[in-house]
Amino acid sequence: MLKGKLCDNCKTRRAEVFQPHTNRMLCRECFIEDINKRVMNEIKRWNMISSDDTILMALSGGKDGYVLLDVLSRNFKSNKLVALNIIEGIHGYNKEEDAKILARTVKDMGIDVIITSAKDYTGYSVDEIVKKSIEKGTGLTPCTYCGLIRRRIMNYYAREIGANKLATAHNLDDESQTALINILKGDLASLIKQHPSAKVIDDDMLVQRIKPLRKIYEWETATYSFLKGFHIQETECPYLELVPTLRAKIRRELYRFERENPGALLKFIGLIDDIVENIRTQEKPRLGRCIKCGEPTALGRKYCKLCEMLSDIGIESPRYLNIRKRGIVV
Ligand SMILES: [Zn+2]
Ligand SMILES: [Zn+2]
Repeated sequence: MLKGKLCDNCKTRRAEVFQPHTNRMLCRECFIEDINKRVMNEIKRWNMISSDDTILMALSGGKDGYVLLDVLSRNFKSNKLVALNIIEGIHGYNKEEDAKILARTVKDMGIDVIITSAKDYTGYSVDEIVKKSIEKGTGLTPCTYCGLIRRRIMNYYAREIGANKLATAHNLDDESQTALINILKGDLASLIKQHPSAKVIDDDMLVQRIKPLRKIYEWETATYSFLKGFHIQETECPYLELVPTLRAKIRRELYRFERENPGALLKFIGLIDDIVENIRTQEKPRLGRCIKCGEPTALGRKYCKLCEMLSDIGIESPRYLNIRKRGIVV
């Protein structure tokens, strides 16, 4: 279809990518420019980053993280950016070679990278925790533990390096799925929390999270990575088949809907943004502290969710503290 056609934007170079939601055929350069421009527009629109911010970027070795890294490093000073790679400790998924390539790619861009693991932080790998969870019959999915641990580690390192923004590489598909799940569950609080200008929780131990890729389609991050020649970690997490069926179904249906109605997800998230902006509360929620680890937790709770979940599977004294020494800054 694209053979021999010229780019609809510059009208000089050969078109390589069809972009259904704009019905344009773009050359490599114009496509990459388009993504950069849209990410920067979103950052500016919600004031995600200001010039004196230090940003910790969480990278998993997948396509989305590399796009985030590339866009931020093109548009912000490298000494204001630090990458973080968390090795979950999942058999067959975390490969040493992938972590090495990621570290090299990030360093080649002149950016520091911290490589750490679930085991460094808690004393246990995700596999070990999942095994305990199955033995205890908790009924919780591996993603619940993994997500909680990763969020904790990201926040911990952001504080450690003095970063005031924590950037994750969630794309438009991820955000649309989450928004729809929140709507179907009637969970207004979570829907509001997803919004980029939701009131940041007023707590000096929690670093503000930003999602600069929230308006970029997943196929676009895949195409960008391909055009840039990034080495993408191809292995899927073996626990993915245990993902709650609601998300799997929603993902499938949203893909189908977007295919039949190009641009639908962009309009959907745009609408959610408008609605939430009008209803979000002005009150900033406050947090308490976990009496075991000292990390923030909901006001009135004795233990944080992570301490509670680990204790439920028999892990009473996670390693937690002094992991600074163990994290490797390459
Ligand atoms: Zn072009
Ligand atoms: Zn705790």
